[in-house]
Amino acid sequence: MRIVAIAPHPDDEIIGAGGSLIAHARAGAEITTVHVVERDRSTLDHETDDDGFQAEIAKANDVLGVNHCVQLFCRSRDLLPSREVRLALVRVLRQHRPEIVYIPHSDETDQEHELVHRLSMDALWMASSRFFAEAGTEPSPAPTLVLGYEVWTPMHRFSHVQDISDVLDEKVEAMRAYTSQLRLARWDSAIRGLAHYRGAVSLGGGAAEVFDVLRLTPSAVSAMDPRNPGQEG
Ligand SMILES: [Zn+2]
Repeated sequence: MRIVAIAPHPDDEIIGAGGSLIAHARAGAEITTVHVVERDRSTLDHETDDDGFQAEIAKANDVLGVNHCVQLFCRSRDLLPSREVRLALVRVLRQHRPEIVYIPHSDETDQEHELVHRLSMDALWMASSRFFAEAGTEPSPAPTLVLGYEVWTPMHRFSHVQDISDVLDEKVEAMRAYTSQLRLARWDSAIRGLAHYRGAVSLGGGAAEVFDVLRLTPSAVSAMDPRNPGQEG
């Protein structure tokens, strides 16, 4: 099983889908994450330099079980719906050929999250088309499952629930690797609270992540269960 998680900013993939990614990694999946925007210099915490921030990313990736982390280093608040960014995403999709893709859901009110949702949806069809050879000549098969995850804007409707009760501590540990971000807000507490809320409402207890199913093919039913390793390769 191959998974790609596209995050507007480093740590968004943990907040929205970290538990699911850990469960997939434990089941032997190959996990690739994409960080589109680099951290914002205007809120640069002077206690953490660039090398320190890269060390935070590496530590979080270790906890998640990420195999490949692609950073596009787009400048914050300069992100445009450009061909360049689309092609960078297409390149990742054609190289890693994921069966499941995680992207921000469509109703995120944060502009960069909403833009990355649109860029990702565009890149998904571009990757499987015969055009755009500059991003790799071999079109990739369409993923069986594309899931929208929540970060800044909790979803009021969702169509897939993942029980993350047995990996919640690891999800929180991955978030805690980002010490620079926790100085701004206690995201470790926030994701624990949201997971318990989602667990209580959807499962009657425990912890959960919820998703908007953006694309589904018949073989995706088994792919949704991280305990099912699916096809090798
Ligand atoms: Zn973000």
